[in-house]
Amino acid sequence: MRAREVRPPAPAVPPMTAKFVFVTGGVVSGLGKGITAASLGTILTARGLRVSLLKLDPYINIDPGTMSPYQHGEVFVLDDGAETDLDLGHYERFVDVSLTRASNVTAGKIYSEVIAKERRGDYLGATVQVIPHVTNEIKERILRVAEAADAEVVIVEVGGTAGDIESLPFLEAIRQLKNDVGRRNTFYLHLTLVPYLSGSEEYKSKPTQHSVQTLRGIGIQPDAIVCRSRERLGSGLRDKIALFADVEARAVISLPDAATIYQVPLLLEASGLGAYLLEQLELGCGPADLRAWERLVGRITAALDVVRIGIAGKYVELPDAYLSVTEALRHAAVVHDVGLELRWINTETLDPADRSVFEGLHGIVVPGGFGHRGIEGKIAASRYARHQRVPYLGLCLGMQCATIDLAREALDTGDCNSTEFSAFTEHPVIDLLPEQRDVTEMGGTMRLGLYPCKLLPGSRAAQAYGEALVYERHRHRFEFNNRYRDRLAQAGVVFSGTSPDDRLVEIIELRGHPFFVASQFHPEFRSRPHRPHPLVRAFMAACVDRAGLAIEPELPGGAVAIQLA
Ligand code: GLN
Repeated sequence: MRAREVRPPAPAVPPMTAKFVFVTGGVVSGLGKGITAASLGTILTARGLRVSLLKLDPYINIDPGTMSPYQHGEVFVLDDGAETDLDLGHYERFVDVSLTRASNVTAGKIYSEVIAKERRGDYLGATVQVIPHVTNEIKERILRVAEAADAEVVIVEVGGTAGDIESLPFLEAIRQLKNDVGRRNTFYLHLTLVPYLSGSEEYKSKPTQHSVQTLRGIGIQPDAIVCRSRERLGSGLRDKIALFADVEARAVISLPDAATIYQVPLLLEASGLGAYLLEQLELGCGPADLRAWERLVGRITAALDVVRIGIAGKYVELPDAYLSVTEALRHAAVVHDVGLELRWINTETLDPADRSVFEGLHGIVVPGGFGHRGIEGKIAASRYARHQRVPYLGLCLGMQCATIDLAREALDTGDCNSTEFSAFTEHPVIDLLPEQRDVTEMGGTMRLGLYPCKLLPGSRAAQAYGEALVYERHRHRFEFNNRYRDRLAQAGVVFSGTSPDDRLVEIIELRGHPFFVASQFHPEFRSRPHRPHPLVRAFMAACVDRAGLAIEPELPGGAVAIQLA
């Protein structure tokens, strides 16, 4: 006799006032889906709407914390210590919100939760399946974000490309939500590539047609198509895409390459996407006020002078690994109306005796990182900046490398190191905290997220912040070893930021240097386009100074001569 089928209850759909915009991608990856989702957030918040965002990542890792930057680019850290996809960085920067770990859902999190529930017996004897158990879990997480953020609109980005095996349960879940929350409360936006064929000198819509077909095969009919292309697409091609994709012509949005990513909200708004979305979702609100964004883009594109900054890191062929660092530098550059010229310095191949790679730089940044590869090159970067009086900003590992560099000179021995790179060094100036020594698991076991940092009055850091106590995001396992505090203080190191109990060193700086500041935390994660991070901003001021960007008397025709040192 067959057992009676036991059906799990459908997920409880709370009385929802939120609207959901789902962003999917097709044709190829790397089209800027995250920036598009974030920009959508910008144009909706610019209308006074409460917006929250969430990314569904179809990989099996619980979070990207254990992934190589080669696989995944930067790991973005939130206030609550969640290690998340770099698109959450775009969301926070474009919408000016602070998100929580609920905003990054991975297949790994979904499956481990489903399996834990199965082990607990929560499914009451049911056969646990992708539909409905996995899809219910996904839907619950989406609904939870809407509730927790009390959002009027939730933007849900689905990672991967339509047609990927991994993303199927996620696409199925967002398909089901249409009926769960009501058709008028959902909007499906599909981002595709419209390639240009130079041979026949035309844009091709076929990949977009195929991608929409794939999406339809899964049961999702897009409400709008955003077409990425080199230049703006003409109405003929947009009409053709509208016909094949079965959307209104005004719902085919051309998104050409932009001068800066911060222009994307303006391009989307100008294309009418915001108005169309509101109409379809029957959302009443005021017009979009994007004046601050217009000013920002105006300043970025008008900047004529350039500050040359070297980023000394390991993943120089993959700038996505340092995305928040470069964005934070850009935000700070805007304040000074200068452009950025980044020089990527590969510390793995760098000969520490070769100083030529640093020559002509107006500032040097050593960003975060893990493992011993390239360490000596980063230490050499700190030494060069110190001796040549070039502004230096150390971010986490950049602070640890600066400490090693300083200690080697102050203690007059090369045998100073972090125990991460040299377990038996004579002078472990950077070492594990006692509580970190017994940690055996790699994932999620670092010192993560927001911690307070007390600033030393009168220090450069305190001046930059203009505050006595600040909160910053962390992602590290190793710490400054307090046994060396006095010795380094004698050598001119100022411990300008510490934990409130004084136990952990958070910021070091150098007395008598134009700007040499390094932090154990990651300031770059909290920088916003309209609110550059104070430390990065102060660093940029020193770089501008170093570049000798003095404004000369006006030349005929209103041009301004700029002197570069
Ligand atoms: N690897 C170093 C640590 O774990 C620095 C980490 C980082 O730069 N994010 O402490």
